[in-house]
Amino acid sequence: RANAEKFEFQAEVSRLMDILINSLYSNKDIFLRELISNASDALDKIRFLALTDKEVLGEGDNTKLEIQIKLDKEKKILSIRDRGVGMTKEDLRKNLGTIAKSGTSAFVEKMQTSGDLNLIGQFGVGFYSVYLVADYVEVISKHNDDKQYVWESKADGAFAISEDTWNEPLGRGTEVRLHLRDEAGEYADEYKLKELVKKYSEFINFPINLWASKEVEKEVPADEDESIDEEETSESTSSEEEGEEEEDAEKTEDEKKPKTKKLKETTYEWELLNDVKAIWLRNPKEVTDEEYTKFYHSLAKVNIHIFPSNAYVVHSLAKDFSDDKPMAWSHFNAEGDVEFKAVLFIPPKAPHDLYESYYNTKQSNLKLYVRRVFISDEFNELLPKYLNFLMGLVDSDTLPLNVSREMLQQHNSLKTIKKKLIRKALDMIRKLAEEDSDESNDKKDVEESSDDNEKKGQYAKFWNEFGKSIKLGIIEDATNRNRLAKLLRFETTKSDGKLTSLDQYISRMKSSQKDIFYITGASKEQLEKSPFLERLNKKDYEVIFFTDPVDEYLMQYLMDYEDKKFQNVSKEGLKLKDSKTKELKESFKGLTKWWKNTLASDNVEDVKISSRLADTPCVVVTSKYGWSAYMEKIMHSQTL
Ligand code: ADP
Ligand code: MG
Repeated sequence: RANAEKFEFQAEVSRLMDILINSLYSNKDIFLRELISNASDALDKIRFLALTDKEVLGEGDNTKLEIQIKLDKEKKILSIRDRGVGMTKEDLRKNLGTIAKSGTSAFVEKMQTSGDLNLIGQFGVGFYSVYLVADYVEVISKHNDDKQYVWESKADGAFAISEDTWNEPLGRGTEVRLHLRDEAGEYADEYKLKELVKKYSEFINFPINLWASKEVEKEVPADEDESIDEEETSESTSSEEEGEEEEDAEKTEDEKKPKTKKLKETTYEWELLNDVKAIWLRNPKEVTDEEYTKFYHSLAKVNIHIFPSNAYVVHSLAKDFSDDKPMAWSHFNAEGDVEFKAVLFIPPKAPHDLYESYYNTKQSNLKLYVRRVFISDEFNELLPKYLNFLMGLVDSDTLPLNVSREMLQQHNSLKTIKKKLIRKALDMIRKLAEEDSDESNDKKDVEESSDDNEKKGQYAKFWNEFGKSIKLGIIEDATNRNRLAKLLRFETTKSDGKLTSLDQYISRMKSSQKDIFYITGASKEQLEKSPFLERLNKKDYEVIFFTDPVDEYLMQYLMDYEDKKFQNVSKEGLKLKDSKTKELKESFKGLTKWWKNTLASDNVEDVKISSRLADTPCVVVTSKYGWSAYMEKIMHSQTL
């Protein structure tokens, strides 16, 4: 072009483009997400400017803050257009080629080691991903302060900028025109584009419209020389009208013949691809249960694509979920220094390997958005591991958008976000338990409905699926240990096969009882026969059964609850009120001394008179800080 000015890409950018062009990376899809994200940024900018100066928005179509995608199937040209802030000539030169972002070389390095292009947006070089699918790209842009320009490059180390004298005026904003490579033909397909927008950009805060084709039947004037086919149609039409024949009598033969015929025709119209007002931006009071459930399903489905390496796991999740409602959700808006919106869901079922993979995979199911732009769903800094079973989304207004993932991960506000998310998650679980509890059900009116029945038993269901996560939380999260302990459920010697809580246990404690009694073992059936329980049963004390292997570890962390200590009844230290103990100690002194000497000190630590037994003459007890017999068994089986 006559007026074109030529520029060379900055060396770092040039290297990046080489890598992209020669990349065998299979996930080329990301280019669309990057372009939409840039368009959305540009729209955010003009919207921001308009806050202080309404004039900048202009009038007419210019005020429509939207993104348009158009496809020319024949020419294989895909264009993405926005009515955002646009770029001046200088912006085009700097932003798209001559000034490498600080993240550029970091990204190039990363690419050479990991090859994971998916991160491109986080290094501030997302635009160049267009060369994954295009060999020639034009960027047409109009900024309020400048004329309309075209930037173009075939990725051959150089780009050109010309004043635009031939394209239609944009008014304001940017159109990126991709001349698709032969191998990228799959993107010249409306369905593919729709799928990608759904997958990556569904929750962009501006309307995304696709110039979509539509097959319609059109009535056109019937021809004189009609084919037999059409004649048949006309006959059937007139026979339908038979009943009206008398009224039509005045009409001439000619008028009775149909004057039109139907033809299939392709027309185009704008089709909105996203739900602009994302659920989490709405007022929780206005979102229906159905909408939450649908949103939940959309999250579950998207995951299928996003974790290809875990396709099976995620697939099975999605299958289980598809016609199931989440157990509960929490939708809230955090304000203050750190602002974010979040929706958390408890899935109806735990994935089959939730705990199997607990220690080696660290997969969060939370998506992170920053100002409506999807950042990542492998961002594990948002929730502690034990809450990884939750699904949902966080949209932060405080986190910066254009920094690397590493910088994001270290961002101060993450700690605050995490803290609040944990609180809300635990609140949600507590409420689930409260709604289900017998007390609250008793209080309710009898008429109250199916909804309550649905809630009945839901905590047991939760406990069954995710109870272990709560226990892992008690072990790992000292700050929230007490909150988590409240959520514990277990059976006891008196719970009659039902689950009970620590609060309920405490409310039933005898006035003479100081500690919370528990016993650990492989099964309730086995424990019920334990000699350690004889005396406690006889005296009517309640004892908790802990029968999950993780319970042994759990009880090393859970020292007390509401000022009550935990006492393993198979360990030293069990004190039952018994006035005769002192007397007995005296009179059996000789026997215990002889016994201790006979067994020798490396076999037993001590021999003592005990008040814990009723029928059994003697038991071997573990010392207070030693492993319980069951723990010995677990440790033994692990070292073997
Ligand atoms: P990032 O979006 O992280 O800044 P990109 O490589 O995606 O990095 O884009 C580089 C720059 O080009 C952007 O920062 C922006 O200044 C400019 N840009 C890209 N696309 C557009 C657009 N549609 N409208 C306005 N400016 C744009
Ligand atoms: Mg970008």
